[in-house]
Amino acid sequence: MARIVMKFGGTSMAGTERIRRVAGIVKRQQEAGHEVAVVVSAMAGETDRLVNFCREANALYDPAEYDVVVSSGEQVTSGLLALTLQSMGCKARSWLGWQAPIKTDDAHAKARIEDIDPEGVLASMASGEIAVFPGFQGVSPDGRVTTLGRGGSDTSAVAVAAAIGADRCDIYTDVDGVYTTDPRIVAKAQKLPLVTYEEMLELASVGSKVLQTRSVSLAMKENVRVQVLSSFIDENAPSADDLPGTMIVSDEELEESDMERQLITGIAADKNEAKVTLTRVPDRPGAVASIFTPLAEANINVDMIIQNVAKEKGETDVTFTAPMADLARTLAMLEERKEQIGFYRLISNDSVAKISVVGVGMRSHAGVAATMFKTLADRGINIQAITTSEIKVSVLIDADETELAVRVLHSAYGLDAKG
Ligand code: ADP
Ligand code: ASP
Ligand code: MG
Repeated sequence: MARIVMKFGGTSMAGTERIRRVAGIVKRQQEAGHEVAVVVSAMAGETDRLVNFCREANALYDPAEYDVVVSSGEQVTSGLLALTLQSMGCKARSWLGWQAPIKTDDAHAKARIEDIDPEGVLASMASGEIAVFPGFQGVSPDGRVTTLGRGGSDTSAVAVAAAIGADRCDIYTDVDGVYTTDPRIVAKAQKLPLVTYEEMLELASVGSKVLQTRSVSLAMKENVRVQVLSSFIDENAPSADDLPGTMIVSDEELEESDMERQLITGIAADKNEAKVTLTRVPDRPGAVASIFTPLAEANINVDMIIQNVAKEKGETDVTFTAPMADLARTLAMLEERKEQIGFYRLISNDSVAKISVVGVGMRSHAGVAATMFKTLADRGINIQAITTSEIKVSVLIDADETELAVRVLHSAYGLDAKG
């Protein structure tokens, strides 16, 4: 017998028929002899709908009240799944964020989980009850509902798994694993049986939204075994215990497997960043700090940064990227400080995409970046900015060239499926 957390995403929970299929998968895991806790998302599209209501009600909405509204989608699906399981003869009980409780900080709309008290849930599970948690929600120190940021149900699932000491956290979604790139964009993408925590962390943070980035860092920190697999299966499909999906593993586990691995593990694209350029910034100590300190204080996450070589007059252009959602705020803050920073023009471009190649193989092989630059150059794709880490190279290109870039890189690194 094992203790398993099963998480089902929005597409898997969209409507009573799909919830019935989910309940069937959960029931089979229980019948296989496991103790089961389930974490569910809102029905697909529901959270977007609720966010829009908040915007319509008050453009400058209070995040605490936003949380009251947007957390409701998961309350509905958790109750519906418990009801469906009961209709199939299973004992099931829902646990809202305040009931478990899933304690978070008070950063409404992007709260962090601080602690989960597992006692009540464990007792209920030991009695044969299936515990059903609405993902994405928690409770603040003063007892108000919080949410964890978009895609946060993955993090709820990993946190529950860590708290109850689960043997595995299965993330059921609408694809059957983690692929070399988004299989909905590149038909030749291949499913990866194993991905390391670090690779998954980089892939998630550069745009592979199959797992929320925070869920991966939490799994890495807490040593939670995570599998990504499909919920769109029938009774004859292999059991989750046979690991049909993608397992997220440590570097050691990867090395132990005798699999032939490509140098590059995956490619991701992200169109949610905008490029900002300040021209003719004085080339002196403190100039760059005067640009980025106010942005940091406003919690704006700057990503790629380039400072050009100073021209004759002791001036230089500075370019960086920031999340599209923060662009208006970023531009307003810089414009306000124009005198103080001493730049000439402020230019922004929201039609860019960041393309990243990720793989632990990069540590021991040179030439990954050169292949990327040459492949893009051969297609006439211009690179506007570059950043690298130990296991990742990212470039910024025109958004219109996103799909082409991902496809040609996928072929160039030998990732295309045969046939
Ligand atoms: P859920 O609602 O189950 O949380 P998401 O939409 O958040 O599902 O994540 C699953 C989606 O992630 C897939 O439908 C796929 O389009 C996308 N995706 C992006 N990159 C990848 C990748 N490398 N491998 C698999 N899926 C990916
Ligand atoms: N329903 C939430 C969202 O769409 C959380 C999740 O599904 O993970 O962001
Ligand atoms: Mg998701």
